[in-house]
Amino acid sequence: MTEENQQEQQQPAVTPQSKPDKTAKPSVYNQQLTPNFNVKEFLFSDTAARRGLKLQPDYYALDNLKRLCELILEPLRASLKAPIVITSGYRSQELNRMVRGARHSKHLLGRAADIVVPGYTPYQVCKRIVELDLPFSEVINEFGRWCHVAVQSDKAPSVFEKQVLTAISQSGLTHYRTGLHDI
Ligand SMILES: [Zn+2]
Repeated sequence: MTEENQQEQQQPAVTPQSKPDKTAKPSVYNQQLTPNFNVKEFLFSDTAARRGLKLQPDYYALDNLKRLCELILEPLRASLKAPIVITSGYRSQELNRMVRGARHSKHLLGRAADIVVPGYTPYQVCKRIVELDLPFSEVINEFGRWCHVAVQSDKAPSVFEKQVLTAISQSGLTHYRTGLHDI
């Protein structure tokens, strides 16, 4: 048994199948990422709570969440002068499957958040992110119900692409249209 495993056993809330070497400790839940955002806001999930899933982002995902806040959410909040509500943040593989997220969803990496902002439509929120020219890799007006935004990867900054889409539901299937549409 390693020293780290022994420490892990003293943590009452950790499930036996968690990986102590890569998994963030429970104390990170209250960690402040930037002045207006903390880790907990990105881990809230009705589905996870209902199914008894515990979300435990690793340190790589936590780093990405911090970058998402610093580079996208804080400047956006300052521009809109309104609080940002995160309706879906970090997802484990299991949670992503349950909410039928895309297989390579940026939510799995801690790089994406679904957000709503009181007083603004999702279209307006998406539009502002694009207008501010923030370093996003994806902005999607999803069904006119929320804005999905993903921060660019911290790798290879010269090849970044900025994808701007509108998701529409037709006969139970999701279709993506290029650009932002006020649906
Ligand atoms: Zn999303």
